[in-house]
Amino acid sequence: SSDRVFNFAAGPATLPENVLLKAQSELYIWRDSGMSVMEMSHRGKDFLSIIQKAESDLRTLLNIPSDYAVLFLQGGATTQFAAIPLNLCQPDDTVDFIVTGSWGDKAYKEATKYSKPNVIWSGKSDKYTNIPSFDSLEQSPRAKYLHICANETIHGVEFKDYPTPKDPNTILVADMSSNFCSKPVDVSKFGLIYAGAQKNVGPSGVTIVIIRKDLIGNAQPITPVMLDYKIHAENNSLYNTPPCYGIYMCGLVFEDLLAQGGLVEVEKKNKKKAQILYDTIDASNGFYRCPVEKSVRSLMNVPFTLVKPELEADFIKEAAKEKMLQLKGHRSVGGMRASIYNAMPYAGVEKLVAFMKDFQARHD
Ligand code: PMP
Repeated sequence: SSDRVFNFAAGPATLPENVLLKAQSELYIWRDSGMSVMEMSHRGKDFLSIIQKAESDLRTLLNIPSDYAVLFLQGGATTQFAAIPLNLCQPDDTVDFIVTGSWGDKAYKEATKYSKPNVIWSGKSDKYTNIPSFDSLEQSPRAKYLHICANETIHGVEFKDYPTPKDPNTILVADMSSNFCSKPVDVSKFGLIYAGAQKNVGPSGVTIVIIRKDLIGNAQPITPVMLDYKIHAENNSLYNTPPCYGIYMCGLVFEDLLAQGGLVEVEKKNKKKAQILYDTIDASNGFYRCPVEKSVRSLMNVPFTLVKPELEADFIKEAAKEKMLQLKGHRSVGGMRASIYNAMPYAGVEKLVAFMKDFQARHD
């Protein structure tokens, strides 16, 4: 509708319009249940059909092998920063981190409480603008896992391929919160993938964990029951009351992604959107600047600065007047950031790019 804005927020973020309209049409009464999804028992057949369909559509989308469990959890990706070492390590076990931004750094810090993590590479001294070449990395022998953040939401740095742990017993763990379902991923390369839903696949409150089944069942004795993957896997994510409505919304998004032709098609759209935005930045003769190394620029979060920082407030204000919201960069890095997740239409990025060119023409 004409009242909707283009929302460039990093998360919670824009959702597909047709998904919102479908949810609206089912909000009051879901199918023939006589009630809203929010009012249903999580153990009744209607909700069971919703969560099972959501899981099976996600499995189709990401081609998830059958020896992987899919868990719908709560607590955000932040809770997984603790749950992962608690489930995969004993307190003295070594784990490796490649830190390419603030989220990887937070995951590392939390892991120090429950394991012995090493940062084997950090991009901090370059203000998190790149990703290392994997060959040169000194990985710890016998590390339980190697942790990466597949897309750093604040810094706009995205892995385009993935490191292979040197020790065959070390698994790769990835925080995919901000690029989940934005492109095809070979799940079998990972021991564990996790993502908060509120960027690409739904509202906040749902966290998805995809874990190879043989890794489940070794949690440290102090692990709270709510963080124990075994408990959730044995109970099909229904050990306690799950975030029912959020799972329903994720299910609608998965249906929509499948209807678009799956993640190969979704990635094509995402590349097109990112391309016109980065091209505009790069062709601006330095008026706009993206600090991230070109080969690892994120398709999801595009940070940029203005050569005249004093114009930033005007940029954001004028964009807002034209119904383009949430373009301010994260408070820790400043500048601007346009988050252009799956649900951001091409028209939204086109409009932003036209605005940027016009703004430059008026202020250069
Ligand atoms: N990891 C990444 C990559 C994120 O972008 C975020 C949230 N912006 C988090 C972790 C933390 O997620 P949550 O707020 O769901 O705990």
